[in-house]
Amino acid sequence: MDRRITRSFKIGNIGIGSNYPISIQSMLKVQNTDVEGCLNQIKELEKVHCDLIRVSVPDEQSLKTFEILQKNTYIPLIADIHYSYDLAYKVLELGAKKIRMNPGNMPNFANIEKLVSELKNNHACIRIGVNSGSINKSYENLNEVDKILQSTLDCLSVFENFGFHDIVLGLKSSSIETTIEANEKIAKLTDYPMHVGLTESGPLREGLVKSTIAISRLLEKGIGDTVRVSLSSSPIEEVNAAKTILKSLGLKKDVPELVSCPTCARTKIDVQLLSEKIEKRLMEIDKNVKIAVMGCPLNGIDEGKDADLGIAGGEKESIIFVKGKQVARISNENMVEEFMNFVHKYLEDK
Ligand code: SF4
Repeated sequence: MDRRITRSFKIGNIGIGSNYPISIQSMLKVQNTDVEGCLNQIKELEKVHCDLIRVSVPDEQSLKTFEILQKNTYIPLIADIHYSYDLAYKVLELGAKKIRMNPGNMPNFANIEKLVSELKNNHACIRIGVNSGSINKSYENLNEVDKILQSTLDCLSVFENFGFHDIVLGLKSSSIETTIEANEKIAKLTDYPMHVGLTESGPLREGLVKSTIAISRLLEKGIGDTVRVSLSSSPIEEVNAAKTILKSLGLKKDVPELVSCPTCARTKIDVQLLSEKIEKRLMEIDKNVKIAVMGCPLNGIDEGKDADLGIAGGEKESIIFVKGKQVARISNENMVEEFMNFVHKYLEDK
């Protein structure tokens, strides 16, 4: 899968563009007045190796919160700004390394000259993030794809006229086809890195399916330099989903893969519960390892032999196996903890 060649630059300590790995981002989903809640969510996102975190900055109070959050994480924070250029200038002065601007909500492009100078002074970049739901009325005669496209191009040309090119483009709709077509079109017209995902994709199940289809189809065409799986669910789910998409397409290696059996009448343990618990623990691991959770020792060890390491559940005891060979028998009490000890040991010895 060849990636589209793009401009590349840094967002703090993370590179974006075709010279760098595809990054994963999510967004804080806590009120900005709840500083402790925001910090806790950031710590959770650090644990699961999120690359970039977006934070809404809707008012002056949010600026104070942004400043505290930024001092307490190594992950670059992206300030999400709507309606106010003034907040954009101020958050850049606080050291934000990236701004997300939606041109539909910030139509007064006369302010972009000052914005560019603040971006340059602070070595920061910007995402022009256009959403189909918030396009300026002046584009209403165009079809859905061209509305998003033209709105992006018009805003982009203003930044380019001021000699600014550290720009990420994001063109989103809740429609898979509209999103794909708009992204394909702009990818042919420019060489800027692309932020890919759907907007308002839905709750967990619906959002995961639709986002996976849209993001995968773009990534398979080489389009996409940073991924956000937007869900009406926790940011941890968003990161996990993005990791799974990238891992499944062979675009990210340092992520565990988890397989589990569908269960049947031979099943001896609660595979669903066990695999969910192990999946949660694996999210903190940034290594290339394939893990199997199987419902019975009789067939499970053989069926899971492609995995590096697996567990096949028995009634009271379960079997740990490495590449299809039994290596231990453990009690079902405390089995997640014991199995994870085997996983860590396996990774240390590897
Ligand atoms: S591993 Fe065992 S329990 Fe799971 S589907 Fe296969 S036969 Fe059934």
